[in-house]
Amino acid sequence: MFSRSLLSIVFLFCFFTSFSQTDTGKKINTKLIKVNNDIYMLQGKGGNIGLSFGSNGIFMIDDQYADGIEQIQEDIKKKSDKPVRFLVNTHFHGDHTGGNAAMAETGTVIFSQENVRNRLQEMMQKETKKIPLENLPVITFSEDLSFYFNGEKIYVFHVHNAHTDGDAMVYFTDSNVLHTGDVFFNGKYPFIDAENGGTLKGCVEGLEKALLIINEDTKIIPGHGEVGTYKDLQKTIDMLSIVYKRVFTNYINKKTEDEVAKMTDITKQYDDNGYGSGFISKEAFLRMVYKEVANDRKDIEINAEKNRKAREKMEKMKEQIKQQKTDQPKPAQNVKGSNDID
Ligand SMILES: [Zn+2]
Repeated sequence: MFSRSLLSIVFLFCFFTSFSQTDTGKKINTKLIKVNNDIYMLQGKGGNIGLSFGSNGIFMIDDQYADGIEQIQEDIKKKSDKPVRFLVNTHFHGDHTGGNAAMAETGTVIFSQENVRNRLQEMMQKETKKIPLENLPVITFSEDLSFYFNGEKIYVFHVHNAHTDGDAMVYFTDSNVLHTGDVFFNGKYPFIDAENGGTLKGCVEGLEKALLIINEDTKIIPGHGEVGTYKDLQKTIDMLSIVYKRVFTNYINKKTEDEVAKMTDITKQYDDNGYGSGFISKEAFLRMVYKEVANDRKDIEINAEKNRKAREKMEKMKEQIKQQKTDQPKPAQNVKGSNDID
């Protein structure tokens, strides 16, 4: 129950805070960090923001919460008086899209993978509070798109069913900076939003896809945490794969979710390195992985059960046939004698 309530808190944190705030203009603590060339990371209350400053203007990735956006806009203005022309949402969560309406108001064009817009629209329909229509991205893509801006190609690509079902990563090809969105929590257990299409396997595949385009010198802006490297990304892939395998083994050995969540040996090497000190505790993470393993095994188990019943039926039938043969009196056999004439 503890982890369920924790997950609910994270859920609320991720999705609704930006839309329930009324105290816009509240001062938040922000930090603008140079990543490489003219690419910066802005840290504040929500997910890490990526920024490219240059002669064409400003290119932005994510915009945190509605109540922090004024502060963020001020920070950007201090660095450049050019307009923020384009903004990419890495996924729909409120700590990455909450500032959309305020950005749109200044003329910024918002882009996202198509599922991000769909999810935001769904939320708007469900919410009792009126959410401005301007929060929606105005241009969507299914797989990828490229910007040619501030002297370099900026490649935006979708990774399937990773943190959510609408994740996009953004790669600045010349500056060699990658923004991963929440598919990568640097050095922490990630939140995988299974309710909205996220899977651990998708995270691993998405990060592997990213490794194909980046190199050992790439600087990586994670969704949450500090700037990372190629090696940090590899470490995360290893962590996810290893934990999944260990949970899988325990699942096969009939351990329950509660038992697995309490185990210390599965994650010890990561717990010792502070992976459980972020939004997601070790226990919450193990529960998430366990649910995914159980889900992955579901079809296999349903088929195994069907096959077991089919085998039983066959064996019974075989037994019945055998029984009938022994019960029935043998018909008189017409033995063909050697003297018979054909
Ligand atoms: Zn998120």
